[in-house]
Amino acid sequence: MRVRQSSLKLFGDCARQYYYSRVLNLGDELSGSLTVLGTVFHYAVEVYENYGYNLELAKSTFDYYWRCPEQLGERIDFWHRRSTYDNLRKRAHTMLERYHALSPWKKGKLVGTEVHFIVPLGDHELEGTIDKLFMRPGIKVLEIIDFKTSAKVPEKLSQNVQFSAYCYATERPEFWDNVTGFSYDQFIDWKRQGWWFHARNGKMFNAGYRTEEHYKRLLLAVNAMDEAIKKEVFPLTISGESCGYCPFADGVCGSEVSNPTEVT
Ligand code: SF4
Repeated sequence: MRVRQSSLKLFGDCARQYYYSRVLNLGDELSGSLTVLGTVFHYAVEVYENYGYNLELAKSTFDYYWRCPEQLGERIDFWHRRSTYDNLRKRAHTMLERYHALSPWKKGKLVGTEVHFIVPLGDHELEGTIDKLFMRPGIKVLEIIDFKTSAKVPEKLSQNVQFSAYCYATERPEFWDNVTGFSYDQFIDWKRQGWWFHARNGKMFNAGYRTEEHYKRLLLAVNAMDEAIKKEVFPLTISGESCGYCPFADGVCGSEVSNPTEVT
């Protein structure tokens, strides 16, 4: 199975939502304002990183693509509650300013932004895109930074499988085929560390180092997901944490079975 890192996350959040979205392909055609904000913001950061850390250039890049997101292959089908063109533009500018002010990242060296990878994992292939890859030669650490423009900070980042997947990918020789100017051998004995960057409040959250134990658990997660898909087992989330962001909460989820409270 080829598993995208985003699908693995979705499956982990709620297997039922994965089923609606990735197996039945329901609702994938609709794209909300916050999703598009994230894409345009990511692009503006990429320009910022690659063209001399120029904040004004990053802001004008954001403005340009925010006016015509189609040029990045995006479109806004619906506006989330309380979001408007102007207030999301202001939010993006503030996020860029906070990013610019974040001094710790100026101590290392950029390895790449938006690095796409497909690497082997057991009998599977793992696919994804790393927002930002950063190196700190002084302490031999390769940092994987993931940008979030609207999500809540997860509680257990040190066990977060998303970061395990990113870190694992960088341990594979195949990963480095897509990274210009750097090689696999260069980082063989380096540690891998994840950082969750909350763009909205400008804070970095340490996701910790990744080891063989994390990679074993990643493989276990992908094997279990593969088995569940083959057997067509897609349970609903028990915690309900994902329901607030789920496009299937109204109308699809819960409407396909009879109501157990009804007397028969
Ligand atoms: S509404 Fe909740 S339980 Fe139902 S599919 Fe969405 S996230 Fe899963």
